[in-house]
Amino acid sequence: MTVAAEARLLESVPTGLFVGGEWREPASGRTFAVEDPATGEVLARVADGGADDAAAALDAAVDAAASWARTAPRERSDVLRRTFDAVRARADEFALLMTLEMGKPLAEAAGEVTYGNEFLRWFSEEAVRIAGRFGVNPEGTGRMIVSRHPVGPCHLITPWNFPLAMATRKIGPALAAGCTAVVKPAELTPLTTLLLMSVLAEAGLPPGVVNVVTTTDPGAVSGTIIADPRLRKLSFTGSTAVGQRLLGQSAQGVLRTSMELGGNAPFLVFADADVDAAVEGAMLAKFRNVGEACTAANRFIVAREVADEFVSKVSARVEALRVGRGTEEGVKIGPLINQAARDKAEALVGDAVGRGAEVVVGGRSIDGPGTFYAPTVVTEVRPESRILREEIFGPVLAVATFEGEEDGIRLANDTEYGLVAYAYTRDLARGMRLVDALETGMVGLNTGVVSNAAAPFGGVKQSGLGREGGLEGLNEYLDTRYTLVPDP
Ligand code: NAD
Repeated sequence: MTVAAEARLLESVPTGLFVGGEWREPASGRTFAVEDPATGEVLARVADGGADDAAAALDAAVDAAASWARTAPRERSDVLRRTFDAVRARADEFALLMTLEMGKPLAEAAGEVTYGNEFLRWFSEEAVRIAGRFGVNPEGTGRMIVSRHPVGPCHLITPWNFPLAMATRKIGPALAAGCTAVVKPAELTPLTTLLLMSVLAEAGLPPGVVNVVTTTDPGAVSGTIIADPRLRKLSFTGSTAVGQRLLGQSAQGVLRTSMELGGNAPFLVFADADVDAAVEGAMLAKFRNVGEACTAANRFIVAREVADEFVSKVSARVEALRVGRGTEEGVKIGPLINQAARDKAEALVGDAVGRGAEVVVGGRSIDGPGTFYAPTVVTEVRPESRILREEIFGPVLAVATFEGEEDGIRLANDTEYGLVAYAYTRDLARGMRLVDALETGMVGLNTGVVSNAAAPFGGVKQSGLGREGGLEGLNEYLDTRYTLVPDP
């Protein structure tokens, strides 16, 4: 990819707020810089919205709500389908843009375009299949009709780590259900959402149905929107700490909420596992997206009998990972998103080593421009180490060992998070016992990746509320209404 191609792409991305079908300047006239984490260079400056802009965007979403809710499902479906086709046609642009603003390797960014775009196709297909039910009441004196209705104007807040997929996973079902929205992308990676918004508008989305407010003051923007009694739903993906705060604010208006929060995924390798397959799965579950995924395996909990084999095989693979700017050929590990993320990786590895863990590969930051951290393997991690309790969000594979199935399950569940668990075993009966015993919303049984547009993605415990994707993902944007019609 040439520098000229990057410049052309960046010039094509709108940088204003999108409100009521128009690009506009923020009330303050201020902008903020979006940087390439691989170089520290400024890629673009985008509108820095404030409370007034947030209110205007919500006004637009409220104004458009009734007519969008009445729009024929087939029409809503067609807008989503045309957007899907346009994103597919422009897949290279979306991939490059994500690599530039977020840092992930280009091949992975292309993978995210495929995955993220699938939500638009899936929900374009679901839009025409929203159904209720009908029954006769047990007394035989009336008919009961259960119908489904769009919840109304929604506020959608996304994180920086999957700039396209986190947006489509919310916008897709919201539009399919007949809801309007104000989207607030992460300030570190707003460009992908802005490009998606321009594609949605070109695909014929009516003015006001989706509005986008970029900002460096998310508290003011989202606070204004959440406090407005016309808002009906909040869907948030991000950290548990911010999610808890937003849940508190949402209580005031008794809002419908969907919360996709942090994770601390265990990756169990049992003594009977196919260790080579487990290593393959580990590379995906750990190093995909530079380790910056809520579904990233955070704790490798390996049966003592196979620990040496697992560590030596996985270490050889990790040693070979090429680090660099995501646009370079063959790069598997890009930069971390910013200095704070790198500081955290350093601190967690330092804490583990201080408590007796051993660094087998990496374990250090890489000098030079960009916030790079060497892919790392640490073993013999003690149970009290921070690295086993907090999200690492970086390319660090931490191994602890266990003895016996019960001990493995106990360790896996020993966290306040419950998003996903991975487990490798050849024993089907054990696999089924694990599915029952693991306290997570998702389980990868002999696989390192679970995400799929057709599946209900989400967590239990402090990993969140609600699901995104599949039929469950659509239901988050629908209210249930029961009507009784007495027999004449
Ligand atoms: P974050 O919580 O810092 O930010 C997420 C979003 O919330 C951003 O758009 C940010 O601008 C906004 N925000 C921050 N403070 C706010 C406030 N006071 N009021 C309103 N909005 C506010 O998280 P992040 O660092 O962007 O993302 C990483 C986190 O997201 C990790 O914890 C990760 O596990 C989680 N995540 C979860 C999922 C999932 O599906 N469960 C998916 C991806 C990421």
